[in-house]
Amino acid sequence: MKTDVQKLTAADGPEQYARAAALLRAGEVVAMPTETVYGLAANAYDGAAVKKIFEAKGRPQDNPLIVHIASFDELAPLTAGVPAAAERLAARFWPGPLTMVLPKSDKIPDVVTAGLSTVAVRCPSHPVANRLIREAGVPLAAPSANLSGKPSPTRAEHVIRDMNGRVPLILDGGPCEEGVESTVLLLASDVPRVLRPGNVTVDQLRGVLGRVDVDDAVLHPLANGAEAASPGMKYKHYSPDAEIIIVRGDYRDFVAYVNAAACDGTWAMVFEGEGEGLAVPYMIWGNDDYRSMSRRLFDDLRSLDEKGARRCFVRCPETDNSDNLAVLNRLLRAAAFRVVDV
Ligand code: AMP
Ligand code: MG
Repeated sequence: MKTDVQKLTAADGPEQYARAAALLRAGEVVAMPTETVYGLAANAYDGAAVKKIFEAKGRPQDNPLIVHIASFDELAPLTAGVPAAAERLAARFWPGPLTMVLPKSDKIPDVVTAGLSTVAVRCPSHPVANRLIREAGVPLAAPSANLSGKPSPTRAEHVIRDMNGRVPLILDGGPCEEGVESTVLLLASDVPRVLRPGNVTVDQLRGVLGRVDVDDAVLHPLANGAEAASPGMKYKHYSPDAEIIIVRGDYRDFVAYVNAAACDGTWAMVFEGEGEGLAVPYMIWGNDDYRSMSRRLFDDLRSLDEKGARRCFVRCPETDNSDNLAVLNRLLRAAAFRVVDV
């Protein structure tokens, strides 16, 4: 399949959106920018179209997709009922990087939810995603636009690398503002539960809802035989080819450890202002605040492979700061939970 790449902005007219919208209505898959990461979109009401997403990504069939809508009004038809909590959350966080999991309506094909009785829905704030949903006139099921297992794409070039020849159209809307996937919040339980952390933080959710639990799978590997509340949590994720090792401790100890362990192909990922004393090449991945780290994390992980890195030691974000939950969750999975204390 030939893949076209089209630059698209919020300022473009309907004619610039027409091709992508027509492909979506015709049951094809289109890669689109969102504020979190790039997504691989198809008409959520069309089971055959959604199947093509799984094929393009090589995604396991039991890992459900998030449905993207353009406004809160579009939520009700996808669900079996909208609780007051969802309304309060939407008023505060939509459009934005919060996904709500609610009991599904019969209109959603099983392939979207991997047979679950719930559906995950989000309203993206990215103006191109929002316009595309409106122009297509249907809700869009969209997982991240990477090959399954690879770091999520935060730039069009990442999508092109993974999806060239697999989808007819990739929309280039520039780099993603957030850089990590949305917060996934289960509302179909007695106490709302975060299944996947994102940049809508647990404290922000508690500010609206009061009690909010955090699923065990967020910071720990699933116990053997345990069932994942969010099927995505059980898969190896976000992994570059290079081996990632998180090193927890202060900067001086980090440098001593890395320099002693360094061999051919060793890299480091450090915070802004660091790098001094390191005997290996390094990348900067933020200021040790969660927004700057999340914006660069996946881009840096992908760059490691381009640079031929074989192993990378990464400075550990503060583990007792709950705002860091999303970056810690992604980094732990990229590192297959390898953490060294120095
Ligand atoms: P991605 O589309 O790659 O951002 O991944 C979507 C995430 O949302 C995965 O971790 C899924 O397991 C999770 N998810 C989607 N639908 C549901 C659902 N109905 N119940 C629980 N988790 C879900
Ligand atoms: Mg994904």
